[in-house]
Amino acid sequence: MLARKRLILGIALSLLLALTGFTAGLWHVFFHGLDGLSRLVFFGLGVFFAIVILTAFLGLVGVVLIILRHRPFPFLERPVSILITRLLPLVMYLGRLFHVAKEKLERSFIEINNALVRTRQVAVAPSRLLILAPHCLQYSGCPHKITMDVNNCRLCGRCQVKDLVLLARELGVNLAVVTGGTLARKRVEELRPRAVVAVACERDLTSGLQDVYPLPALGILNQRPYGPCVDTRVDIERVRQAVLDLIGRPAAKGAV
Ligand code: SF4
Repeated sequence: MLARKRLILGIALSLLLALTGFTAGLWHVFFHGLDGLSRLVFFGLGVFFAIVILTAFLGLVGVVLIILRHRPFPFLERPVSILITRLLPLVMYLGRLFHVAKEKLERSFIEINNALVRTRQVAVAPSRLLILAPHCLQYSGCPHKITMDVNNCRLCGRCQVKDLVLLARELGVNLAVVTGGTLARKRVEELRPRAVVAVACERDLTSGLQDVYPLPALGILNQRPYGPCVDTRVDIERVRQAVLDLIGRPAAKGAV
């Protein structure tokens, strides 16, 4: 777990060190070479990069502090937000350039996101929580249309949509099954939840969690025993635990 978080934070730190070197170079040109306007341009670029670096360093320090101390630091909220929404996508892109497996990077991001959200000790009313599940969880031969209304599920038990429907009813939370990011965003806009538990693959979770930030959203990876996008599964107990975490209720004894 810790190793996964370290991967993305390590790349972010390397990026910052490289930017620091670049900025030092710009300032070197300012003080020792070129003249007039071009010197001013270099100086301005240096200031710009210095601000980016400082913000990113603060964001990185914020993420590490929040994870280590298990509590939020309000004065670091803004840099952490910029790091998560603006710089981590760039870090992940760079990681891919250096042949780090995309899924590894995405899992690292999801772990960091979940750790940050859990430290915020959110406690929303169940009616304001939304579980977003992917359509590929539905049994591929099921004729019932559940993306418009999950209550169309006949609870036959051939797939875990039944378990999610029962879980949502038991805990009094909302459930939506969506075919992709566009429908997921639409459901979030319609329901205006205060917290989200999202189930999806690495790619969809990464973009979805960034989209809804700073809304507290916990991401849970689905399992793909038959390959991507067909008859996928999810650990229902992890979904239950994530919901309980966000509605501020302790898990029942013996729960995972
Ligand atoms: S549990 Fe619901 S969604 Fe799954 S196969 Fe049965 S009716 Fe279809």
